[in-house]
Amino acid sequence: MSTPSTPIAIIGAGLSGLTLALALHAHSIPSTLYESRPCPLDIGGAIMLSPNALKILDTLGVYQHISPLGFHFEKLSFRSHDDHPIDDFDFGSRDKHGYKALRIYRYELINVLLSMVRAAGISIEYNKKFSHVTAETPEDITWAFADGTSATARLLVGADGIHSLVRKHLYPDLTPQFTNMIGVTAAVPRAQLKTEPNYPLPVTIMSPQHGAFVIAPQRADGSEVLIGKQKRLEQEEHDRAGWNELMENNNKSWCIDFLRQGSQDFPPIVANAVSDIPLKGINLWPFYFVPKLDTWTRGRVVILGDAAHAIPPTAGQGVNQAFEDVYTFAGVVAKQREQCQSSQGDLDAAVRMDKALKKWQLGRQARVDKVLELNDQLNRRRLPNAGEAGHLEPFDLEWLYGVNFEESIAEWAS
Ligand SMILES: Cc1cc2nc3c(=O)[nH]c(=O)nc-3n(C[C@H](O)[C@H](O)[C@H](O)COP(=O)(O)OP(=O)(O)OC[C@H]3O[C@@H](n4cnc5c(N)ncnc54)[C@H](O)[C@@H]3O)c2cc1C
Repeated sequence: MSTPSTPIAIIGAGLSGLTLALALHAHSIPSTLYESRPCPLDIGGAIMLSPNALKILDTLGVYQHISPLGFHFEKLSFRSHDDHPIDDFDFGSRDKHGYKALRIYRYELINVLLSMVRAAGISIEYNKKFSHVTAETPEDITWAFADGTSATARLLVGADGIHSLVRKHLYPDLTPQFTNMIGVTAAVPRAQLKTEPNYPLPVTIMSPQHGAFVIAPQRADGSEVLIGKQKRLEQEEHDRAGWNELMENNNKSWCIDFLRQGSQDFPPIVANAVSDIPLKGINLWPFYFVPKLDTWTRGRVVILGDAAHAIPPTAGQGVNQAFEDVYTFAGVVAKQREQCQSSQGDLDAAVRMDKALKKWQLGRQARVDKVLELNDQLNRRRLPNAGEAGHLEPFDLEWLYGVNFEESIAEWAS
């Protein structure tokens, strides 16, 4: 059974999908969301939003609702194993970039986005897993869901994450590669750190033997902190069931052991942080690699967010770049629609849209590439002898946080 055609179908109601639906709605472009999981989506952990994404969320009316729910901060500090400052990295600044950075639980952000999507009357269907495209014509595209039903739209957008099935339509043989690295994190009360109140947080403490230990406040009042380390796994990767099994409470004690390992070689704040680790709040983040893709669009299919680019966590830009994708994509589609109203028919409009989406993809990829370069620079500065040459120059991050999206949209849609 095929459901009626919608102008734009969005596969995945995660952060990219929900925000895309709102961004399209702001231009009066209707869309329908399809999400494979049941509602509500309560995928663990908090994320860090930087000014480039916060500007977008502000324009869409989301920021005012999330600002009271998260922890505001400006810098990530880096310290040595004997607790000396090494470096810091601007994650936001009201004076320089218009917004402080915001650390917010993912479910809180999703709840706000979802209630705004519902208030806007945007249709969203849960337990609807996209399977594969079944037909494409010059006018529309039809696909099957895993439950045997199908649907049709003018444009199909894959916002379905790093393991995207929509991407399979563009790259049938591509499978994300597990890097063998996972982030192991937990949540503990801030008071447990027993540091003076002005100890710089969030902080990454670097140990030559044990790598980096991260401590980052969360909750609006900063009363809770994430603690975390990265681990290289010796065994094979897991499928989703395998990861879920590793996340069962009775299987999580290895995470506590791992977080505690080597704490005596860090400053006392780390031993305090790991002294009592509740099982609830432990999270795993397996890192996958997706090669740079030549194209994010083909015919009536587009991919964006993690489906289009997997960005390693170093500069904390994964989700922030996903917001940039969706906002600029909606802007380009809206501009094309305006221009097509004065154009000479559907074929002309389709060619123009193809050209505009190609420019959008190349422009977006160029920014993603710059973020990847920034990740590399940051990684080099975390090497044990990086600070020996003397003072580390602060990064100029105006290109990242001070970006003018409206200018980019106008250029890509021209
Ligand atoms: C534990 C963890 C911590 C992280 N922390 C940070 C951080 O601090 N900062 C940061 O920038 N990034 C962080 N990331 C990365 C960040 O979460 C991603 O960049 C971001 O979620 C990408 O959003 P997305 O909407 O594109 O994809 P996703 O968030 O993966 O959403 C995809 C959605 O599509 C749905 N879906 C998948 N397949 C289908 C299908 N076939 N049919 C229908 N629906 C489908 C999924 O259920 C999901 O809801 C973290 C990731 C993890 C796992």
